[in-house]
Amino acid sequence: MQTPPTGEVKLAHLDAHTFADWISSGTPTVLVPVGALEQHGPHLPMGTDAILAERIAREVAASTGALVAPPITYGYRSQQKSGGGDHLVGTTSLDAATLIGITRNLVRGLLDQGVRHVVLVNGHYENYQFLYEGVDLAIRDLGLEAEDERCVLLLSYWDYVSEQTLDAVYQGSFPGWDVEHGGVLETALMLHLEPELVRMDRAVDHEPAQLPRFDRLPVVPGRTPATGCLSAPRGADAAKGRLLFEQVTRDLAEDLTAELGRRPASSLAAERVG
Ligand code: ZN
Ligand code: MN
Repeated sequence: MQTPPTGEVKLAHLDAHTFADWISSGTPTVLVPVGALEQHGPHLPMGTDAILAERIAREVAASTGALVAPPITYGYRSQQKSGGGDHLVGTTSLDAATLIGITRNLVRGLLDQGVRHVVLVNGHYENYQFLYEGVDLAIRDLGLEAEDERCVLLLSYWDYVSEQTLDAVYQGSFPGWDVEHGGVLETALMLHLEPELVRMDRAVDHEPAQLPRFDRLPVVPGRTPATGCLSAPRGADAAKGRLLFEQVTRDLAEDLTAELGRRPASSLAAERVG
């Protein structure tokens, strides 16, 4: 049987027989990154949300012995107050029923094959409640009860940014996670992880968008800054991205280990080699 290379974390790179062995040999955990295809201003790629969710999931998987499923690279409709809006060119979205359906199918399929824990690592603000609904339906499909060892965790990665990191990165000017779209967080993380995909020469600078407390539909396009960024990437650099990435992935790995139990990353490779 094929031996997975040491440190392999991508589920799609394993053959099915190796995957089956892995499922039956511990407490298998699969992380599913979820993002969007969404405009992120002139300096960041449209795949930013999925790229960041996947990189965070891969880092966490490497330190916990989990595997990372191929990401869901489309997300729920971009909303004006958190992503600029679905009317903007470059944003290609799913409706709620579709995202719920995809989530329900993936979660049910993984748990049904014997994966013990599924962790959805979300990177697109608007996705969260629809992922929750998809998970809830999958749990009902399988008839899982609270005492069942199989379970699903769901999180958005920015909820792991600590107060200390927030102070260090924003130095008192944190605009709120909803308008962190094309701003400091995503830009700094991308500069650390995928610098060749960032065009800082095209970065804009303006104050965070001032949007009403209500949502209005149809959207009034002029309320979204013409740049497509809801806040500016002013002050973002790779060092801040590294700080964010290392703190978030460390705390997330700790949380998963505490909640789901540890399966040392080295054991997968060690078993095969031995
Ligand atoms: Zn984003
Ligand atoms: Mn987004």
